[in-house]
Amino acid sequence: MSSPRVGIYGFTGCAGDQLMILNCEDRLIDLFGAVDILSFAMAKSDNKDEELDVAFVEGSISTEEQLEHLKNIRSRAKVLVAIGTCACWGGPQAMKLEEGGFEKRYKGVYGDAKIAVSKALEAQPVDAFVKVELKIPGCPIDKTEFLSAVSKIVAGRHPYFYKFPVCTECKWKENLCILLEGKFCAGPLTKAGCGAVCPSHNIPCVGCWGPTDDLNVGAEYKLLIEKGYSPEEVTRKITKFSGAEVAKLMKGLELKDMEAKK
Ligand code: SF4
Ligand code: SF4
Repeated sequence: MSSPRVGIYGFTGCAGDQLMILNCEDRLIDLFGAVDILSFAMAKSDNKDEELDVAFVEGSISTEEQLEHLKNIRSRAKVLVAIGTCACWGGPQAMKLEEGGFEKRYKGVYGDAKIAVSKALEAQPVDAFVKVELKIPGCPIDKTEFLSAVSKIVAGRHPYFYKFPVCTECKWKENLCILLEGKFCAGPLTKAGCGAVCPSHNIPCVGCWGPTDDLNVGAEYKLLIEKGYSPEEVTRKITKFSGAEVAKLMKGLELKDMEAKK
C-alpha cells in the first residue's frame, strides 16, 4: 500500500508551525517514513505540485497570489488541514477584519507606492476562501497534538481536540486564578491544548490558541469592564489572536453599542 501523499505549505504568518513540525526531532524520521511528503519548502527542495491526500496549510491569506496558490492546493488535496492560529482564525493580522477600513489602513502604511509583487488582500483565515476539513490550533501548534492528529488522519480517523477552554487545564493544575488578582486573562475564551502553560507560570493567557467552542465573549467582556479595563483595551486584547472569529461574535453581541453607552 502506498504512503499517504502530503504537502505542507506556508502563507502569511511567522512560519512557527512549520518550524514546530521540523522540531519534532526524534519523531520526524517516523513522520517522514509514514507519509510521502511531496512538498515542504522549508524542509526540502524537490517539491512537486501533484495530487495530495492531505495538505497542511499555515498562515492567513493576504495577497491575490497566495489566494491562487491556496485554490490550487485545494484542487489537488482530498483533505485540507489549517495549522496554527493564523490559518485557523486569521491571527493578529485579522484583528481589524470586522471593522472594515482596510483600504484606508493600507494607504496609511504604503501611501501611493506601487507594490510590484502581488495585490494585497485584507488578511483572512484559510476557510474564508476554501473548504477546510480540520483546524489544528496553536501559536505555534503543539507537536504532540500535531503528531497525534497526523497519525489519526492517515489512519482515516478524525482527530480529537479539546472543546473546553484553557481555564479547565488551568484548574487541573490547581493554579490560583489570575483574573481574581484583577489581571487580564483570556483563558475563559481560549481553546485548551497548551496545558495552560502561561497561567501555570503566573502569566495571563493572551489567547494564542484561538477561540474555544461555545465561548461566552459577553461574560468575559462584562467581567473585565467591571474590573476597570476600558472597552477599547478589552476589545483589542480579546481580538488579538482570535481576531476574525471573536470580532464577529462581538459584533453579533453588539458590544460596540455597550462601549458607546459606557
Ligand atoms: S488564570 Fe486564566 S486560564 Fe486560569 S482559571 Fe483564571 S482565567 Fe482561566
Ligand atoms: S496559556 Fe494562553 S497564551 Fe499561553 S500558550 Fe496557552 S493559549 Fe497561548
